[in-house]
Amino acid sequence: MALDVGHSLVAPGAISARGRAEFEFNRDLAREIRERLEHQGVKLRVIGEDGAADRLHDRVRLGAGAVFFLSIHHDSTQASNLLTWTHEGVERPYAPDRFAGFSLFVSRKNPQTARSLACASMIGERMLAAGFTRSMYHAEGVAGESKPFADRANGVHFYDKLAVLRGAAMPAVLFEAGVILNRDEELQLADPSRRTRMAQAVADGAVRCLESLSSEARGEVRRVSK
Ligand SMILES: [Zn+2]
Repeated sequence: MALDVGHSLVAPGAISARGRAEFEFNRDLAREIRERLEHQGVKLRVIGEDGAADRLHDRVRLGAGAVFFLSIHHDSTQASNLLTWTHEGVERPYAPDRFAGFSLFVSRKNPQTARSLACASMIGERMLAAGFTRSMYHAEGVAGESKPFADRANGVHFYDKLAVLRGAAMPAVLFEAGVILNRDEELQLADPSRRTRMAQAVADGAVRCLESLSSEARGEVRRVSK
């Protein structure tokens, strides 16, 4: 399995309501997910943990050969939704309260859309069971969103244009842990014990996904050998 740490030191992604780069949130969460997956015996390739993966093409190349590709991110919202506040003497943008929760994305341009969706649903289901809440705003029909639900109950959306998902040959899912522009959720996402619980939920979902992919593959082998 390939575990992709979203963004890099040079292009750090979103900046939180308190000025911390998304890449740092992604790296911290991915590290915990990695520990849990390795503990469960998953053979893992981690991409971009050093912050040096600046080209999307390289991420896809580094993930080649994996049976499942999971990219870890933290979320923002459209710039037009943001308000400003002053934190420690610096004026910074933040997102209103309704922009909150985790989201999962799959691309219909990925050659394995159905398997991608099945895996995203398994991760979303484990996240909900662990007490986390899914976002709703990505499905709104406004400019920059309009990412329809693929599995509304489990927080999975179609986001066809996402290059890292589209470019992958294997089932691929992008996970947004929560909205770091949301001032309350940023604090929650930075909380180590909550992060550990989230990492466990994501790892549990990923393990279920890998099990279903491998049992499916065994089934295909049997059919072929008849
Ligand atoms: Zn991101």
